[in-house]
Amino acid sequence: MYESFVGLEIHIHLLADSKMFCSCKAQYGDEENTNVCPVCLGYPGVLPTANEKALELAYTVAEALNCELSPRTTFERKNYFYPDMPKNYQISQFEHPVGKNGWVEIEVNGEKKKIRIHDVHLEEDAGKMIHAGDVSLIDYNRAGYPLLEIVTEPDLVRGEDAEIYLKNFQRLVRYLGVSDGNMEEGSLRCDANVSINLEGQGLGRKVEIKNLNSSRFVKLALNYEIDRQSLLLDEGKIVSQETRLWNENRDITTVMRSKEQALDYRYFPEPDLPPFCPSDDFLQKVKDRQVELPLYRKDRFIKEYQLTEDQTEFIIDDKAVADYFEQVISLGVPTDMVATWLSGDVQKELNKNNMKLLESPLSPERFAELLKYLDEDRIHGKLAKQTLSAVFDENKSPGDIIAEKGWEQISNADQVQTLIEQVLADNQSVVDAIKSGDDRQRGYLMGQIMKKTNGRINPQIAQKVLSEKLG
Ligand SMILES: [Zn+2]
Repeated sequence: MYESFVGLEIHIHLLADSKMFCSCKAQYGDEENTNVCPVCLGYPGVLPTANEKALELAYTVAEALNCELSPRTTFERKNYFYPDMPKNYQISQFEHPVGKNGWVEIEVNGEKKKIRIHDVHLEEDAGKMIHAGDVSLIDYNRAGYPLLEIVTEPDLVRGEDAEIYLKNFQRLVRYLGVSDGNMEEGSLRCDANVSINLEGQGLGRKVEIKNLNSSRFVKLALNYEIDRQSLLLDEGKIVSQETRLWNENRDITTVMRSKEQALDYRYFPEPDLPPFCPSDDFLQKVKDRQVELPLYRKDRFIKEYQLTEDQTEFIIDDKAVADYFEQVISLGVPTDMVATWLSGDVQKELNKNNMKLLESPLSPERFAELLKYLDEDRIHGKLAKQTLSAVFDENKSPGDIIAEKGWEQISNADQVQTLIEQVLADNQSVVDAIKSGDDRQRGYLMGQIMKKTNGRINPQIAQKVLSEKLG
């Protein structure tokens, strides 16, 4: 009887080399307070300048999310009262964000669903507070990082939708190469708002949940919150408009601040930064950065290559892997074979060697060569796996390894004949037994043949020859 409405605000660090308004390095993991300068520390009298690369990446995201791109984007100062932002304001966007009124598709239980995007805007990140006992320390390395905020309309219904949206979004920014989307390192962060109401009554009173730092927590926190608000309404109480936090140890949300304490972020124009008006060249660069988005690539892979849902999910998760897959296919190897090996044995080797596919010795050409050996029955499955390991260990091509180790399958008819004749001669009593009707012994003979050739004999040909000999 209740309807729920969920909206997400996602923040991503853009992969620009320097900060949003100064030339300090934007890099994770450096020693505290080493990437700072008078601009990002907010000293008096300094002048910020907008990072054009960050603007390009921001417009790229807005374009991919089907937004109306702003022909004149402006910056505002947003009042801010925490010590992690030394200026007492944050430069953000309000009046004319980079993009607005967009949409993106997600797939929930096999069905496509359009999620509207309210706006995409740029801002600078705050520093990082570290609380140690009685003291609080601040690292300003992160202050001034180019941060892109993407705000959805409340089109998501349950925590599950939000989790899917978030994962989909993470893939999208990685595909576009605008952010590494890493939640553990804080380069993707998420706030959510949720309201419920009687069916048909529209939005209810909005509760915000801050700092959700994994897609699983987003799901848990939102579902908890929907249930909590439903219970309140069941009891005839009202939901108070407030900001809450997810407590991951107790699996509940708790109040952070109520509406009365809510911060009043007044915005006023940033006088030191002129509006940015993208040129035709700039917009062309933004267009050139667009790629086939993960969800469409997934649909295409399933249709074009007849892969299973699971295989496709695995392959398209990382754009580099999906590109690699298509490269191997183009070299003429059966698609299901590539998919199976890629998600199975190749992945095992990568894990074992702690490597990413693209930096491994298994180039698409080498992988295709290996699978062709297997496909043409020139090598059997077990040896193909050994060859794969050897490619990783020795950084050589599969052809060289197979030749050096003499692993190629014995398929030559004369050679097979001779080998089998030898085995039969060595096992005359077994042959006699089979000829007098004990068919169970055939398996034993096959085993002996395999043993004699270290498993290299082509089993189909061997079976055929054996049948001929035994009648
Ligand atoms: Zn700086």
